Formats: sequence, structure tokens, C-alpha cells
Amino acid sequence: MTAEPPPPALTGLPPAAIAAWLAETGQPAFRAKQILDWVWKKKAGSFDEMTNLPAALRAALAEKFRLTPLAHAQTQGSADTTRKFLFRLHDGRYVESVLIPANPALYGEPADRHTLCVSSQVGCAYGCKFCASGLAGFTRNLTAAEITGQILAAEKLSGERVDNLVFMGMGEPLANLPELLDAIELITSPETLHLGARHLTVSTSGLVPQIRQLAEHPRQIRLAISLHGATDDVREKIMPVNRKWPLAELFAALDYWNSRKNQKLTLEYILIDGINDSREQAAILARHARHLRAKVNLIPYNTVAGLDWQRPPEERCHAFRDTLQQAGVTATLRFEKGHDIDAACGQLRLKQETAEGIVPPIQPTNPA
Ligand code: SAH
Ligand code: SF4
Repeated sequence: MTAEPPPPALTGLPPAAIAAWLAETGQPAFRAKQILDWVWKKKAGSFDEMTNLPAALRAALAEKFRLTPLAHAQTQGSADTTRKFLFRLHDGRYVESVLIPANPALYGEPADRHTLCVSSQVGCAYGCKFCASGLAGFTRNLTAAEITGQILAAEKLSGERVDNLVFMGMGEPLANLPELLDAIELITSPETLHLGARHLTVSTSGLVPQIRQLAEHPRQIRLAISLHGATDDVREKIMPVNRKWPLAELFAALDYWNSRKNQKLTLEYILIDGINDSREQAAILARHARHLRAKVNLIPYNTVAGLDWQRPPEERCHAFRDTLQQAGVTATLRFEKGHDIDAACGQLRLKQETAEGIVPPIQPTNPA
């Protein structure tokens, strides 16, 4: 017997769908704005809080919809550092979102800004060797409501406004393109969060057809590529996806992206001791970055329980960055703020699901 599907969540309902439902049920059109305000601006915790709606309408809403598909399970970290939120989904699975205070060096934003890193899937099918998200395989795509629900919940729990959104949490967003696009459409709407497309960054491990598809999208969304290796042989050791879409094909898709968009690409590069951190890789990476007019984000590897790789010594990280900068590439070296709170996305969820016996314990491996 399959469980009844839960009622649709208002965090996934476009303003036009709310208006259509109101029309269908014979309600005046102005109620749409009131409902949207309660959901997105006042962040109501229950339908009862929507005091300017008639009781009958509140009851009809409660019967037909849920407010949000996420239940808050845990918060790690504190207000002046990185905070990580764990959410329970209706099927008992977990996802996490990370709220990061401004990093002016990275985004050129004033210091009171906040970036939220959201998940797009439960687990991940791509199995990159450094990443906790793929360790227990892929479970399912998140719905648009589950994606947007993370932003709403993070804002409500923290009392902060999310200024930048990065799809760098658990999962491969471009493998969930329809829900990703629905979520983007929703949160950029003036009636909801009204986030500017330029404040949204989608990060991908390099899904070539979807990069080309997203390049056609009319909004000026930003794109980050998880590169992590400057040559096919090194990248293949780290990211199995490179066998399907090797660097030549990836770079051709990024050239196409550049021909359609005027936002600078970002190349994400985790530094892993003895694996991808040589001067030679840095020099080749610099050539790629210059060709693509991309900036490079260097991230010292965060240790993941179950994986044996290490972060390189600090001097080596600096040397890698210096090689890039000397070649005229904009490169930032970001020592993760949340290193001590299982910051690499996917770890907190894995811990929780392992504790509950949803996924089996991960056996330590030596991927090198
Ligand atoms: N699937 C997408 C988006 C999610 S993962 C992608 O691969 O781009 C995005 C990023 O999480 C990685 O590029 C990396 O920046 C970060 N990350 C994952 N595991 C990490 C680890 N162990 N240490 C440091 N950063 C990590
Ligand atoms: Fe998936 Fe991205 Fe992690 Fe690779 S880095 S396993 S694509 S979430």
C-alpha cells in the first residue's frame, strides 16, 4: 500500500496557481496577495495566524494545502558564524541548508549580507570522491516546494534575510532541472521573495546538455562549475562524471554559456593533498580560467567521515592560489567557515540517516 501523497505545499505554488484556486472556489482575487504575504513575507507558522482571512477560507486552505513541506530537525552553529539547518521531509528523509554570513571577498557584497546554500536532491548519483552527499547514493529529487521551503525556513529560523542563494548543497541541481527552474521562477517573483537572478548561483559537476539548456534561460543566473581537476586524468580520479563529459566537452559548453550570458563563470576547485594540488595543475587551471574569463574559488578539502583524503598544508594552498594570481586570474582561497560543523554538505544528513538506520554505515575507503 502506498501512502497518501501529502497535500501540495504553499511554498511550491506559483502566485498564478493561488489566484486560480481562489477563483475556482469563488473567493475574491485580492485574497491572493494576502495569502502570499502570509507565506513569504510574514512567514506564518500556521493557517490560524492568517488573521485577515475569513475563518472559512483558512479552513479551506488548511484542508487543501500544507504551508511548507519541511520540518525543522536541528540547527548547528551560531548567529555570528555559519549555521547549518537539518530538515526532515515527509518521507522521513533529511536535507540540509547552510546559512553563511557575508564573504565580501567572494561576492563583493557588504558585510551584513547572508548567503544560503540549498540542497536540490536527497543524496546524489554522481559519486564524486570527496563528497559526503553521494556516499549513500541517490534517493530522490527535491520538489520546487522543498527547495524554496529551505529559504523560507532558514529566514524564519535565523531572523535574517537571504541575499544570495547558491545551489551548492546536497545533490546535483542540473540533474533536477525542471524543479530547479520552477523554484527559481517562484523565488524571483515580486510576490514572493523577489530575489534577483544575479543573486542566484547554480553549481554543477558539469552536466553538459543541461548547461547548454540553462544557457538558453532568459534570466541572468550565475553558474559555478565544480572542476577540481585541470586535466582529464586528474579530474577522472576525483569525479566519475568526467568520463561521461570530459573537459573538452565541458569547456565547449562553457564557451556557449559565455556567448549567451554576461555573468562571470566561477570554477570551484577543492584542494586535496597530493591529488590535485600541484603547481602544474595550477598552471593548467590558470590557462582554462583565462580562456573562460572565469574566477576561481579554491576550497581546502574538508575531511569527510568515511573518506581518507586530507587538506594540503596551508603554504601549499597559498602557493596554488599565487600561481593562479600570477597568471592574471582572479582566485580566492576560502578556508571554510563551518569546518567544525560538518560543513561539507551532506554530512549532517548522512549522520542523521545513519543514526536512524535509513542508510547503512559508510565503510571507510581510500579513494586515492
Ligand atoms: N552537485 C553540485 C552542487 C553541490 S556540491 C556540484 O557538484 O557542483 C558543490 C560543492 O560542495 C563542491 O564543488 C565543493 O565546493 C563543495 N564540497 C563538497 N564536498 C566537499 C569537501 N569534502 N570539502 C570541501 N568542499 C566540498
Ligand atoms: Fe554530487 Fe556535487 Fe557531491 Fe559530486 S560534488 S557527489 S555532483 S553533490
